[in-house]
Amino acid sequence: MDPDNKTVRHLEPAKTLGERIRRMRFTLARRASQLVVLGLFFGTARWGWEIGGKPILSGDLSASRILETLPLADPLALLERLAAGVMPSAAALTGAAIVLALYGALGARIFCGWVCPMNIVVDAAQWLRRKLGLSADLVRLSRKTRYVVLAGVLLASATTGSAAFEFLSPQAMLWRDLVWGTGLSALTSALAVFAIELVLMRDGWCGHLCPLGAFWGCVGHVQKRPLLKLAFERASCTRCGDCLQVCPERQIIRFKTLEAIGRVPSAECIGCGRCIAVCPENALRFTLCTKAQPAAQADQRNPDAR
Ligand code: SF4
Ligand code: SF4
Repeated sequence: MDPDNKTVRHLEPAKTLGERIRRMRFTLARRASQLVVLGLFFGTARWGWEIGGKPILSGDLSASRILETLPLADPLALLERLAAGVMPSAAALTGAAIVLALYGALGARIFCGWVCPMNIVVDAAQWLRRKLGLSADLVRLSRKTRYVVLAGVLLASATTGSAAFEFLSPQAMLWRDLVWGTGLSALTSALAVFAIELVLMRDGWCGHLCPLGAFWGCVGHVQKRPLLKLAFERASCTRCGDCLQVCPERQIIRFKTLEAIGRVPSAECIGCGRCIAVCPENALRFTLCTKAQPAAQADQRNPDAR
């Protein structure tokens, strides 16, 4: 029983294929989103996919163009170049502003859960870790380590005069080799992240070390009211803790906070939907944030700002 004397239940294993698919709906949708982005880059680069004679999605994860018209750019890569003293082009500035506005509005770390190719590797390692019953707690670090890594990346860019993380980023290596097939670095980077996740540290790369995730976390701390909200229903929750077990950013599920603000703090949430899938009481759900909250009230009650 929980403090409110509610009976604690857990989800029974899915009995039908339909129920199984329903529970996996967010994972399936995320996989589709990640593969569509990767597929559009791949098809454009390798098979010359075009619409009206214009490449569908050219470039890479740092800077790309849709139909040779709409620029998209990674705002962290832009920051690194600025730190390195390189003046960005107008297209890079516009592209970064578009990407920033898009993820800022939706939920900053949606990129991590729905676009970044490394998420597929991490999810695979987590699945195997659960199957093997491994604890992966050989290394313990604070979740804030990634913000230190982010600062280090910008410092390294400033001192070396080049975008430091772009050269070393495992996800960029993975992306380059998946799209261009240029060598073994994809395998090496993916295996390294896989091994960290499987053996050394649960949520090791994405939850503790990745400076790109940290960057989007910073954006999330600034943008306090994204469009996509993970609503929490206090009356239904029995505090069974199943959502905590599956959340890759467990530090954001603090029940007193959830009860106070009626939602999961958004800054570090990757929007993976796993908590929704395992909740036996349907106490969590994605909704669109439509009501404006008075700024003073939002600041006072929003733990993302702290
Ligand atoms: S929100 Fe979390 S703790 Fe509450 S009932 Fe759902 S899974 Fe259990
Ligand atoms: S709170 Fe839910 S949606 Fe957000 S990261 Fe955790 S499991 Fe995923």
